[in-house]
Amino acid sequence: MLCDWEVQTYEYWVQLLEREAHNASAPKSGLKMQDSYHFYDARPTQALWWSPFVQSFRQLPPMQEPLFSLNQTAATRGLTKALWGVGLRAPSINVPKYLLYLQDRARGLGVEILKADLPVDGGLEKALAAAEQVMTAKGRGGVDCFVNATGLGARKVCGDEAMHPIRGQTVLVKGEAIATRTRTGANYSYCIPRPGSGTTILGGVKEKGNWNGEIDDQTTRQILEENRNLAPELLTGADGGFEVISVQCGFRPGREGGPRLERESVGARRVVHAYGHGGAGYQQSVGSARLVVRLVTESTGGSHVFSRL
Ligand SMILES: Cc1cc2nc3c(=O)[nH]c(=O)nc-3n(C[C@H](O)[C@H](O)[C@H](O)COP(=O)(O)OP(=O)(O)OC[C@H]3O[C@@H](n4cnc5c(N)ncnc54)[C@H](O)[C@@H]3O)c2cc1C
Repeated sequence: MLCDWEVQTYEYWVQLLEREAHNASAPKSGLKMQDSYHFYDARPTQALWWSPFVQSFRQLPPMQEPLFSLNQTAATRGLTKALWGVGLRAPSINVPKYLLYLQDRARGLGVEILKADLPVDGGLEKALAAAEQVMTAKGRGGVDCFVNATGLGARKVCGDEAMHPIRGQTVLVKGEAIATRTRTGANYSYCIPRPGSGTTILGGVKEKGNWNGEIDDQTTRQILEENRNLAPELLTGADGGFEVISVQCGFRPGREGGPRLERESVGARRVVHAYGHGGAGYQQSVGSARLVVRLVTESTGGSHVFSRL
């Protein structure tokens, strides 16, 4: 199911970019098709399931770029060499821009966005009642169906103890990397350009169960050191290093057993749960959202819900 969501999302993004390319006045999504490289210590023991679904997938010859230069500099820095790698074309996302683009599209389709902190001390029923009150206060009438997309918040909103944080830390630097690169194995690091912003996100860590929201300086140093090798074109600082704009940490909404997408009745209220996508909430978004639309349609008897994805 998760693989299918990712394939649907990839295909949708490719089509979205084609539409943008053919219509100069179309609003820009913040997506861009780019080269993407994955470097490994050795050939992975399991096949890369996604290889048949992406454009221009190929194994990288070790004596040619980009593997050749990567390993030359790895040797001088005492890093483990990447003996295997693949290349492909994949969309990278300028996330702040993409979220605003989605918000504008939703508003254009008649969505009204209301903000409120829902209570977490009385279970899902109390949270839903509070959400309904917000709607009623705005004169929006009753709620046909709720979609609970509270991410890590679901741990408290509906008492889902399978939810846990997967802590990440990233560094935003000046300059757009010419490709997305991910290093897996002895070192885990990545660089993801934010198209059109003149910046790149460098990562990272995946720390399951770590609730620490403070920046860890040692992790920052490690991210910068490992990325020196991955994205040398961004070493534009006067000291020969990166030009750091900001350092941040965040929590991926992990869930034992994977994302929860299902219907539930809470008293007389109908809910569709849609949370727990871990570190893949964007890349699974379109496939996952289509399932949400189907579940809401089933929940409400199906007459007045339709997808405009
Ligand atoms: C370091 C890092 C790296 C990542 N890398 C990737 C990646 O490579 N690929 C990818 O696809 N994704 C990536 N992600 C995205 C991420 O992993 C998630 O999958 C994604 O953000 C989940 O989106 P969501 O909408 O389900 O949850 P969220 O974005 O967490 O949204 C949940 C919303 O619910 C609201 N909420 C919760 N509780 C309440 C309450 N009581 N009352 C009112 N509102 C409430 C929150 O305020 C929030 O707005 C990364 C995230 C991080 C932090």
